[in-house]
Amino acid sequence: MKVLVPVKRVVDYNVKIRVDSQSQSIDLTNIKMSMNPFDEIAVEEAIRLKESGQVEEIIALSIGPSQCQETIRNALAMGMDRGIHIETEHSPEPLIVAKLINEIVKKEEADIVILGKQAIDDDCSQTGQMLSALMKCSLATFASNITFDDDRVIVTREIDGGLQTIKLQKPTVITTDLRLNEPRYASLPNIMKAKKKIIDKYLPDDLNIDMTPKLDVIKIEEPPKRQGGGKVETIIELVEKLKNEAGVI
Ligand code: AMP
Repeated sequence: MKVLVPVKRVVDYNVKIRVDSQSQSIDLTNIKMSMNPFDEIAVEEAIRLKESGQVEEIIALSIGPSQCQETIRNALAMGMDRGIHIETEHSPEPLIVAKLINEIVKKEEADIVILGKQAIDDDCSQTGQMLSALMKCSLATFASNITFDDDRVIVTREIDGGLQTIKLQKPTVITTDLRLNEPRYASLPNIMKAKKKIIDKYLPDDLNIDMTPKLDVIKIEEPPKRQGGGKVETIIELVEKLKNEAGVI
């Protein structure tokens, strides 16, 4: 069984985002970039499935500029077998990403695709869902546990107010939630080994995918600055303020 894990290169979650002067994008100058945290969880899960002998090969795939190779190398250092890089100028919108992943799924005959539930830069949470539609296959979003039962995949999903367990036919698409696992750190020997692992490279033209976007970003803006708070001496003063200044009661 083969598992494909798409990993996105995003602005590190510790970085304070700056909007660029034309308000069209995020300013990426000298900014630390990392693997999307939900994709690290997906990589960890694929490695655990391989270590438990349930999966034969695990492949990391990233779509974007040449620096995405660093993200793939990180996944290889964690324990993925090999990488695939589809080189594009920027990371495309979710529908195009889903179409590109779908082509790789066909080429590699992958049985399971494990994605992050969302990328922390665009917060779209769309790619996994679109991919399963393109693959015409089953889908389990927000997974907090993955096991196998004969030929089926059993996934526990985090839903409002509880957990739902479902049985899926392969091929299948799974998206990871936070509680699925805790990703490992890459050890130094594994970082060295990862340098020798293979990364195959494609261009969108090799896969015959039209890269014309269907979304236009009109504007990106920072959230309004928070107003400073104030202290009140009595409950009566608080109620006054809620009535007259905040207008909430
Ligand atoms: P999104 O739908 O943009 O929130 O992304 C959901 C998931 O799709 C991510 O966690 C990744 O697993 C995958 N993904 C999105 N964009 C890319 C990309 N450029 N390269 C690889 N995987 C991606």
